[in-house]
Amino acid sequence: MAAPGTSLTIAAMNTLTSSSASTLPRVAVLATGGTIAGAAPDATNTSGYQAGVVGVGQLLAAVPSLATVANVQAEQVASVDSKDMTLALWATLARRVNDLLASDTVDGIVITHGTDTLEETAYLLHLSVKSDKPVVLTAAMRPSSALSADGPLNLLNAVTVAGNAQAKGQGVLVAFNNRIHSARDVVKTSTYAVDAFQSPEMGALGWVQDGRVEFQRRVVRPHTTATPFSIDSIGAGWPAVDIIASYAGASRIAVDALVAAGVRGLVVAGTGNGSIHASVQTALADAAAKGVAIVRSSRVGSGHVMRNGAASDDALGFVTAGALNPYKARVLLMLALAAGHTTPVALQQVFDTY
Ligand code: ASP
Repeated sequence: MAAPGTSLTIAAMNTLTSSSASTLPRVAVLATGGTIAGAAPDATNTSGYQAGVVGVGQLLAAVPSLATVANVQAEQVASVDSKDMTLALWATLARRVNDLLASDTVDGIVITHGTDTLEETAYLLHLSVKSDKPVVLTAAMRPSSALSADGPLNLLNAVTVAGNAQAKGQGVLVAFNNRIHSARDVVKTSTYAVDAFQSPEMGALGWVQDGRVEFQRRVVRPHTTATPFSIDSIGAGWPAVDIIASYAGASRIAVDALVAAGVRGLVVAGTGNGSIHASVQTALADAAAKGVAIVRSSRVGSGHVMRNGAASDDALGFVTAGALNPYKARVLLMLALAAGHTTPVALQQVFDTY
């Protein structure tokens, strides 16, 4: 496999004339690992495989028709199972995306990624990429060695979307199983299904099928160039933000331990509409009084969390996450804290805007 940092240029296939190849969009594929780059001992094994072991050159070679939709260049940015995604790798990836998009030799970017944390990486980039050129993440539920592996078609579709003019200015997108999702809305909703990504509250933005791309709606909230967030504002380190859950019989132990450890923010995966067990809520109120940012979201999986007024959120100094799930709320909270938004009022404005 190509070592991280390696670049490859995949020449246009010789079935293309040089003039048709030169009119194709130029798409950079950045590989980070995941099941799309996974390999198992045999073709019927879709659970006991190793993620992130197949290099980007091999991924591209499995899809010869890529050369009919784009002039593809490729880089192995990392080779990780995305369950082990790190904040350092996020920073490296975001910086590389920004550098490539600033060059006039790249029209769009595809990122191959594991499915486990894809929605978090996608939303981080949606908030921090400084270009309106398309950035499209894709992945696979079955390793590259599997019968009916889904990675090759997902990769072809992602490159097709990244090279499509309609994808410009739509923020970061996820192309998966023929659908195109906004990074803000999309979540992984199944452990094994090939149709694992949905946008439960909003629906997909569009679809890609047999080379045709169709968008049926646009993203309204500001993203990419229209946010104040920058990966460079992270500087020396990401603000420590953790996630806790509320559930029957929950106690304040986790909140108190995290506050003692010095977290700057906590996101609560609340029950229902972001409601919180009284024991946990008391601990969170104590944390908020010490200046820890508290964001209420929901563990439900769809819907949104609204402020509950003077009696609670206002009095306790809590912020609500709207339609963001806890994992995405954490991404926004980290970027907002790094950008200097620290009061509940300022943070609520951030959550209501992005
Ligand atoms: N654990 C894998 C990963 O996230 C799962 C996948 O890619 O489907 O890298």
